[in-house]
Amino acid sequence: MKILVTGGAGFIGSAVIRHIVNNTKDSVVILDKLTYAGNLESLQEVADSDRYAFEQVDICDRQALDNVYVEHQPDLVMHLAAESHVDRSIDGPAAFIETNIVGTYTILEATRAYWNSLDGDKKSGFRFHHISTDEVYGDLEGTDDLFTETTSYEPSSPYSASKASSDHLVRAWYRTYGLPVIVTNCSNNYGPYHFPEKLIPLMILNALEGKALPVYGNGMQIRDWLYVEDHASALYTVVTKGAVGETYNIGGHNEKANIDVVKTICSLLEELVPNKPDGVAVYEDLITYVTDRPGHDVRYAIDASKIDRELGWKPAETFESGLRKTVEWYLNNKDWWSRVLDGSYSRERLGTE
Ligand code: NAD
Repeated sequence: MKILVTGGAGFIGSAVIRHIVNNTKDSVVILDKLTYAGNLESLQEVADSDRYAFEQVDICDRQALDNVYVEHQPDLVMHLAAESHVDRSIDGPAAFIETNIVGTYTILEATRAYWNSLDGDKKSGFRFHHISTDEVYGDLEGTDDLFTETTSYEPSSPYSASKASSDHLVRAWYRTYGLPVIVTNCSNNYGPYHFPEKLIPLMILNALEGKALPVYGNGMQIRDWLYVEDHASALYTVVTKGAVGETYNIGGHNEKANIDVVKTICSLLEELVPNKPDGVAVYEDLITYVTDRPGHDVRYAIDASKIDRELGWKPAETFESGLRKTVEWYLNNKDWWSRVLDGSYSRERLGTE
């Protein structure tokens, strides 16, 4: 099979590509605009495969999407391309509206035209898998509830509102036009190749440099955490075995307060990097509480029992094992993250170096 993966140069998309090339016989076509978050260096270990192709395309560009469909004729599509960082959506929502809403609409239309042109098994086996977030469901503050696939949407940030909009569009294209879609909503991912603006890599890299570890508000915001390679295996399971028109929640059964995540990183670093930067007695001393994010949701928690029951998927990592692997990965892959931090990974791509 040939699988088109939008956003395949991003954090989760690159894990999906590595999963498919390393563990299956399928071919991949990556469709990615290469924004600041897209990094072809995350794909180096599989880029020489003869089952790998890359197209630099913006999902808002209908003509370019049509060309990719004509040239590559994919059997399945996994749609991950998005603006994904909540803080950036608060500072500048326009790109989130453009890519997450208009871009998803544009690729839905291009996909519908392509799907209508197919026939036989290729048409009946085709799937458009839309990858989304548990943040669309809103805030569970003060309850023990879990998000299920039927929880109503109540997004809080420009990011989650734009993802909620895209989910609605995808379901409308199923209901109205019969496009064979599947939607997944997943909790917070962490793991290798995570852009250093996100909580876990930011804390690891700041601690290694003896910089402050900024924690929003009182640090008691609760998130469910899933190791990115577990998410990649879940997504491949869903796109190949999931039922058309269905939604599957994906989670790690790991509800943690942000402050506890940061303290666990500090204790792993105490063990793995006992030689601390000058002036640092213990890594936890670097923790600094900063003004909370506006509209910050207090608790997310996900019921991931449907994907287990119906498709037999479970996460392989616990939070403890996944976080240890993640810290070790950052310690062993300074080349990757130092080129992200100093910007050389994107300057070279843009031909300015
Ligand atoms: P990311 O920001 O690391 O990667 C996004 C990728 O999309 C990048 O490679 C970027 O270049 C590409 N892109 C952005 N705009 C584009 C456009 N207009 N056209 C083509 N490509 C474009 O994001 P991620 O963390 O890998 O998330 C991937 C998907 O998973 C997103 O849809 C996100 O909403 C969803 N998701 C993320 C998480 C998480 O914890 N990171 C959790 C649940 C769901």
